[in-house]
Amino acid sequence: MKQQAPRIPVERVVSPHSIAIIGASESIDKFGGRILHNVMRHGYEGRLLPINPNRETLLGLKAYPNIAAAPGPLDLAVVAVPATQLLAMVEECAKAGVGACILVTAQTAEFDAAGAELQDRVAAVAKAHGMRLVGPNCMGMINAPAKLGLTSSMTIQHVPSLRVGGVGLVSQSGALMATLFIHGYDVGVGFSRMISVGNQADLDLTDFFEALVDDAHTTTICLYVEGLKNPARFVELGRSANEKGKTVLAVKAGRTDAGLAAAKSHTASLAGSYAAFAAACRAGGVVLMDEPEAMIMVAGMLDKMGPFGAGSVGLVVSSGGGGAVTADRLTEGGVPMAAWTAGTVAKLETHFLPHHINNPMDLGAHKGALGPHVFAGTLDAVVRDPAVAVLAYMMTPQPLMADTTAALIRARQETGKPVAVLYDTSSFAPEITAQALEGGLPIVKRIDDLIRTLDAGIRLRDLRADLTRPAPQKPAEFVMPASPGTGQLSEPEAKALLAAIGVPVPAEEIVDNEDAAVAAAARIGFPVVLKGVSHTVVHKSDAGLVHLNLGEAEAVKRAFAAIAKALPAGERHVSVQQMARGEAELIVGARYDDSFGPQVIVGFGGVLVELLGDVQTALAPVAPWQAEGMLKRLKLWPLLDGYRSRPKLDVAAAVDTVVRVSWLAAELGPRLRELDINPLLVRRAGHGVIAVDGRGTLS
Ligand code: ADP
Ligand code: MG
Repeated sequence: MKQQAPRIPVERVVSPHSIAIIGASESIDKFGGRILHNVMRHGYEGRLLPINPNRETLLGLKAYPNIAAAPGPLDLAVVAVPATQLLAMVEECAKAGVGACILVTAQTAEFDAAGAELQDRVAAVAKAHGMRLVGPNCMGMINAPAKLGLTSSMTIQHVPSLRVGGVGLVSQSGALMATLFIHGYDVGVGFSRMISVGNQADLDLTDFFEALVDDAHTTTICLYVEGLKNPARFVELGRSANEKGKTVLAVKAGRTDAGLAAAKSHTASLAGSYAAFAAACRAGGVVLMDEPEAMIMVAGMLDKMGPFGAGSVGLVVSSGGGGAVTADRLTEGGVPMAAWTAGTVAKLETHFLPHHINNPMDLGAHKGALGPHVFAGTLDAVVRDPAVAVLAYMMTPQPLMADTTAALIRARQETGKPVAVLYDTSSFAPEITAQALEGGLPIVKRIDDLIRTLDAGIRLRDLRADLTRPAPQKPAEFVMPASPGTGQLSEPEAKALLAAIGVPVPAEEIVDNEDAAVAAAARIGFPVVLKGVSHTVVHKSDAGLVHLNLGEAEAVKRAFAAIAKALPAGERHVSVQQMARGEAELIVGARYDDSFGPQVIVGFGGVLVELLGDVQTALAPVAPWQAEGMLKRLKLWPLLDGYRSRPKLDVAAAVDTVVRVSWLAAELGPRLRELDINPLLVRRAGHGVIAVDGRGTLS
């Protein structure tokens, strides 16, 4: 079937002027009935047409026997029929000129092969008519400003109205959308739109992501992702959201093998690697979160707090103990605490003894009489400190809470800096919560939530700053070899490829007899390394194929004999190479992910790479500043940076290698399945790096 131009734009799918509900009934125990109730209950103002062959009217609305009998134009039809009737129903909608169908029907591609085939046929019919599809296997959507609760979820029956706010959600799980709706309601978050995309037979997560980027009501975008159909567009949209000053948060399932398997059977998505998704988030300025509820909570908090500027966290507390614990948890959580500048210390000295002036600043330690001026003066001094990006206040019940809250509101209003309050008023002084919320102060009840909020705000600031830094540029004298090889590359083949792109490798000769090995060693210069050349052995040293530090001819002969014995049948070449020295061993690699494309990785390597698991991944190619960022995010970064009495190592040369390998990955695209330098020996600053082992697979 030929593809037709879409009948309606995505924005119209989310803001329909008319909706037909197929299978509508009065019973809220049925999908169609529940959707009809939900739409009516929240005051949708467009045309609503229940479709039911057995009824003249439903809940006071005129009902129609079938979609063909319903007067058009119809923007949307909700289809909640058993899978056996799905194709026929979609065909009817397509013929009737419906703009888009929301397919609630499940047991499609996520279920089995027959379901996948059905989904494909449904998608083909829609495409041929230019009719858009949401789902199948979705739970509809919510457009709060349009008072539209178009979902089969029960959760929206339990709220008096759809609270309008700046947070938008696109979710690959319908049940999670419904859960997050009520969770957001409970924690005071207002939503703009929430869309459940299901199996994404047609419209996918990025289509609605784009609609949220363009939507004037949405300031913060939350994404629950299982697998992306269009990763490049995801990165682009992240960037344009940031350009518009919108915050994007994402949670992705499939961090573990257990999560991956669950996601696949859930929405039939190929998840791609989690590291690759994290790299895509970084490239798009998207803040990756660990769980959905936290994402919604943080979205609500950041929405109220506004963007973070330079500096770190200033913490003020009204409990010494609570402050100590909060400071511990923030520090463990990687949230940086500010050091007060001299001007701030001078101001604080009017209220506190010098040895009581810390971050956290404990109000309880004041000197002299306690009054509102102590609290106001302290909060004001801290929030105005140029080293403070955000003021966090941990409130415990005490007599001056109303004054303190007023001072916090003033601090926020006068400086425009973000302020967060940690306070659990479950039953005590609810008027303080009301006062804070009215004054625009966001409140969290738990330290964990404060950590997540501050961490996300700081990460967002840094990601956003990165978006303005220079784009990758191909390094000078980077020449792609005309024939980079195919299949599994042996070490000498991989190193030849690396040498061609400008990565230093040791001098090397390939020999096939003892005498030639000795002669080669003499030319290269002792000590040398002998290694068996193999296309099949992955860990050469484990197989007895690596003999290091051979100082004279006899040692070379012995090593040759041993390697000749250890080599797999049919392989007989031995590499004689210069014995290189370095202070640290890195792994630098390239991968091609079918979802996310070319990537570059760097980590602490050698034979301990799997054990250490200290690896960073980025989408390739990368600019030098990105490669440097990857190195700095490694847990063992201090080993490169002069830890204790160690020398500073040649980070610039390591950066250059990462950049070159990233360009190789980008240029070869899917042809380069994987390539590793392991190890790249890193020498002292100014003395460069050298790749002493390489392997790769090209197709
Ligand atoms: P494997 O296939 O087991 O990874 P490698 O070629 O990486 O084999 O050799 C194992 C280890 O030997 C390396 O991690 C490195 O520490 C050391 N090594 C290998 N080649 C050299 C060399 N040319 N100079 C110095 N050390 C080397
Ligand atoms: Mg190796």
